[in-house]
Amino acid sequence: MRRKGLIVSGVAVFALILTVVVYPSHAKRWGSGGMAVSETAAPAVVSSRAVSPDSFLPASESPMAPDFAPGTWINSEPLSLKALRGRVVLVEFWTFGCYNCRNTLPSVKNWDARYRDKGLTVVGVHSPELAPEKKLENVRREVASLGVRYPVVTDNAYETWKAYNVDAWPTIFVLDKSGKIRWTHVGEGAYEKTEQVIQKLLAEDKSQAEETDRTVSPETSVVMAKIVKSDEAWRKELSPEQYRVLRQAGTERSYTGAYWNNHEKGVYYCAACGLPLFSSDTKFDSGTGWPSFYAPVSSANITNETDVSYSMVRTEVKCRRCGSHLGHVFDDAPEPTGLRYCVNSVALKFVKQS
Ligand SMILES: [Zn+2]
Repeated sequence: MRRKGLIVSGVAVFALILTVVVYPSHAKRWGSGGMAVSETAAPAVVSSRAVSPDSFLPASESPMAPDFAPGTWINSEPLSLKALRGRVVLVEFWTFGCYNCRNTLPSVKNWDARYRDKGLTVVGVHSPELAPEKKLENVRREVASLGVRYPVVTDNAYETWKAYNVDAWPTIFVLDKSGKIRWTHVGEGAYEKTEQVIQKLLAEDKSQAEETDRTVSPETSVVMAKIVKSDEAWRKELSPEQYRVLRQAGTERSYTGAYWNNHEKGVYYCAACGLPLFSSDTKFDSGTGWPSFYAPVSSANITNETDVSYSMVRTEVKCRRCGSHLGHVFDDAPEPTGLRYCVNSVALKFVKQS
């Protein structure tokens, strides 16, 4: 993680010194060129983003945006991208302690005021860097005193941060009406360009974007930073059963897992790397004894591979970020997609919707 362009002027250098003085533990995290190097903030650091920054992507080349992980919502009821379909959504990853983030706020607030009634929803994902930024009372106080009126959701566990492959504050994503990431900008600036993107997407027809969606293979739509670890490291991190299933493509016995009969609302994350994979919204009772879903949260978060083991031709489903085996996908499901993602409970970690 790094803060972009911090050392650009004497004022910024002064700010850096202040930061170091105020938070001594912060000092050791500054690497070359004034970039902060992550040590503690996010356990699984990713090195690049899903889309290329500063280029306006056509819908056909844009990945679906992952939905927000559970957090505390300020200024609104909990929102989901699914519920926001039909609106243009600007997602800003920020934290109130970040000098560069504070500099972007006037523009972000402006867009909210100017385009909210025209179909734009701004969501601030508050991803803290330092301990005081994790305290809800501090976030509430700063949101109010900074005059932020749009919805803000806390991301203290960095789940949304990781799902979007963010590595710097602030990072802005602009999503089209069908929930695809069409624009990314890291750091301050590019305000005019970002506003032009908002205007273009507000003028775009939702059905057009969806039409393109169906013709795009997920393989070509996203380049996600991979998490690569040695077998030994995985063995240490995972339980023996998790290791057998996730890393050795094993299968748990049916009707024995934790989730085949789980009917609670929430999100299922990769048990190895924490990427959001499936939602209770697409879970159905398949009668197989394994958790079954008719769609992933985003086709960008999984990969499909042909699996010819056990003299069968099946399609193996893996986590796109860490390559862990999840289960298989079959085309024998009832509505609405006809697909049945048959997943091992032990490959998942369920987080109940709060
Ligand atoms: Zn994973």
